[in-house]
Amino acid sequence: MNHPDDDTLAALALGETADGRTATHVAACPVCSAEVEALRSTLQLARSGAPELIAPPPSVHAAVLAALDDESGNGPADGVPEAGPAAGAAVGDELAHRRARRERRLPLGWIAGAAAAGLVFGAVGTRVLDQDPAPTPTTVLASASLDTLDTGARLGSAEAVRIGPELDLDVRTAGLDPGDGYLEVWLINRDLTRMVSIGVLRPGEGTQRFAVDESLIEEGYVIVDISREGFDDKPEHSGDSVVRGTLAL
Ligand SMILES: [Zn+2]
Repeated sequence: MNHPDDDTLAALALGETADGRTATHVAACPVCSAEVEALRSTLQLARSGAPELIAPPPSVHAAVLAALDDESGNGPADGVPEAGPAAGAAVGDELAHRRARRERRLPLGWIAGAAAAGLVFGAVGTRVLDQDPAPTPTTVLASASLDTLDTGARLGSAEAVRIGPELDLDVRTAGLDPGDGYLEVWLINRDLTRMVSIGVLRPGEGTQRFAVDESLIEEGYVIVDISREGFDDKPEHSGDSVVRGTLAL
């Protein structure tokens, strides 16, 4: 049978009775009986109130060394049988015992490995975050000045930009007045009869970016228009354009 686990051996050392098979094994197994004996003497020392630090019993020391051997790959291969032939029974038992100890320690090793992996991932993640993201090539395809329709006052600008594979419209304005409603950005076709909404512009300064399907530009939707829209049920253009401009190279 396999060696009993550490808890069972500790229970035996504490004087508890084991089941028949375990008792028979421990009595016959030099490794297990040595372990129980070592635990027992340790307990006795502890109970005697010895104030000085207690060195681990030799069997514990040996077991630790054996475990280290196993982990460094110098230990027995996994193909070692549980029990050797009669002549090598003690050796086979010892090997099996080492393996049993290694198996019991596996979860701890696994946790340590996972923690180490986590550290590695953490380090990689930090390094990636520390770096500036790789600059995506940005190309300005066309630009427009956004002017009022009545006086031609320039109140903003728009740029069709290609960022990687995407086409966007960057709209920069300075405090357009949405009135009682909101500001909506449109692309109007050159034929001045067709238009599509590409989004809502937040009042305020700075550049806001809108995704644009490149085919719209190719089909002639090159007039950028910002309208003042009411909170009504009318999705179409209100006719109240604040600024307008035509994209050009
Ligand atoms: Zn044993």
